[in-house]
Amino acid sequence: MQQYIGPEGILSKRGQYFYPCTSYFYRNPPQLVKGEMQYLYGHDGKCYTDFFAGVSVVASGHCNPEIAERTAEQLKTLQHTCTIYLTQPNVDLAERLAGVLPGKLSRTFFVNSGSEANEGALLLARLHTKRRGFIALEQGLHGRTYLTMSVTGLKMWRSDPQLAESGEDVTFIPRPYEPGLSKDEAARRSIGALKKVLEEKGHEIAAMIAEPIQGNGGMIVPPDWYFPEVKSLLEQYGILLIADEIQTGFGRTGRMFAMDLWGVEPDIVTMAKALGSGIPVAAFASTDEIAASFNKPSASTFGGNPVSSATALAVLDYIESHSLAERAERLGDLLKSGLQELAGRYPDMISEVRGAGLMIGVELCAEDSERGAVLVDDLLEEMKDRGFIIGKNGVGRNVLAFQPPLVITEDDIREMLSALSASLSSV
Ligand code: PMP
Repeated sequence: MQQYIGPEGILSKRGQYFYPCTSYFYRNPPQLVKGEMQYLYGHDGKCYTDFFAGVSVVASGHCNPEIAERTAEQLKTLQHTCTIYLTQPNVDLAERLAGVLPGKLSRTFFVNSGSEANEGALLLARLHTKRRGFIALEQGLHGRTYLTMSVTGLKMWRSDPQLAESGEDVTFIPRPYEPGLSKDEAARRSIGALKKVLEEKGHEIAAMIAEPIQGNGGMIVPPDWYFPEVKSLLEQYGILLIADEIQTGFGRTGRMFAMDLWGVEPDIVTMAKALGSGIPVAAFASTDEIAASFNKPSASTFGGNPVSSATALAVLDYIESHSLAERAERLGDLLKSGLQELAGRYPDMISEVRGAGLMIGVELCAEDSERGAVLVDDLLEEMKDRGFIIGKNGVGRNVLAFQPPLVITEDDIREMLSALSASLSSV
């Protein structure tokens, strides 16, 4: 039996060897040692039902045997070559992606992380349009690299505070959400700001980047008309729409991609997280015409390697053969109505329940987010002790985040709701 150093041992090593900025959830975090579909296990054998899936990463379940077997098989056969050599898993994967991506998006460039996918997409937009400017939504999150951090509206993720105020030519517009305004009013405000930017400097803008549903920003679902209108305004100025589907992609919202909810065909889609279900694989995709603008030889050392590609193919097979998108829609309705019922019982704590499919946020104390953030931390701790892992996000860190693996069951959801009800009455 393996000897575990336990949470204290891990925290002590992290304190000594990690960068001090490396954060973690929980006042008393567990040491996680094993995953089994929607369940995670601590070193003491305690089982946790995972309602966060590492921020939408593990859609098809932890260590899903059908996927892990194919990863292991590839790992033992041909582990690595980059795209300069001919191998089959990455072309099969690119072909599969072309089949599920919206509209005419049929070309894929493989990389290793969400940040890198967005970085590539932004560069591609500049190359294609020969323009420099970007538009991004306030409170969005697009990554950790310099360029992606520059288009990240959430201040807590912009490690360099000078970013976006200087070099990268980014204009932020309000997102389609504002406490105190209706969804339509907030979206109209956002569109108004977009029109103003377009009138002032539309012909200098290469692309607008947006998460279809803001994840870390607090699960912001725009009204159905919002992105169709954004797209048609951008088209009038030849500006590309980059959909950051890194949290929303691959069935989570009840559709393969969240933009499918509104029938919007972005010019570039970026993907990561759930695509590899834990194995690093990410990509950006576009049409033939846009892809042609990436005209310098460009290969990524790990991008499109056989192991990541074989895994992603297995993930897509699993999502399709188990109808996980449909499942997300059905179980999302169950989870959402259960959370709404709790909102009715705890109106002094729960301000709003929102989301699509199995990507749901519960905002606590919208009018006093500091109190909400403390409550969120209390609830996360309490729920963990009761055997449920849930997440948190939002500008004030006052939103409970529910993004379980899509293999979660109705029983798991009912048990979690009853634990949450008990936790709400005890905090
Ligand atoms: N975009 C979105 C919407 C994300 O949620 C994240 C990560 N949370 C990223 C980009 C960056 O992805 P990565 O951490 O893989 O670089």
